[in-house]
Amino acid sequence: MNQPNRSPAKIKALPPGRTLARGLRVKCPVCGQGRLFRRWFTMSRRCPQCDLKFERLEGHWLGAVAVNTMVTFGIMFVALGVVMVVAYPEYPIRTMLAVLLPIPVVAPLLLFPVTRTFWMAMDLLLRPPEPGEIRSEFLPGNAEPENSR
Ligand SMILES: [Zn+2]
Repeated sequence: MNQPNRSPAKIKALPPGRTLARGLRVKCPVCGQGRLFRRWFTMSRRCPQCDLKFERLEGHWLGAVAVNTMVTFGIMFVALGVVMVVAYPEYPIRTMLAVLLPIPVVAPLLLFPVTRTFWMAMDLLLRPPEPGEIRSEFLPGNAEPENSR
């Protein structure tokens, strides 16, 4: 397997706040480029601006699935709480099911792009981009181009 030259002294972390904010805005966490998806479920292979390969290793998107699942469960938990408070003291099971059952079907589809880019941001914070993985001007510590916010 061809591994890039790992030289810890050359690897710097990305700024966490900006990186995560870009992920939440469905932008490239490295450079802020916004056109990462050709369609809702079709992501480009590389960032057109910084050349980051989005699927950094095999199985990379399992993290995005985990984020998507956790957010969906969070939405369901909040919705269950709201339904229970609104319906108190009676809990009509059909109404509760009608409100709650669509959530695990619809939420993962709606959250697909943002959970992918957010996971990319988290992954890049845990494993910063290495020389050769993105264009050198976008490596942390190098001067960032003007239009990358
Ligand atoms: Zn980029």
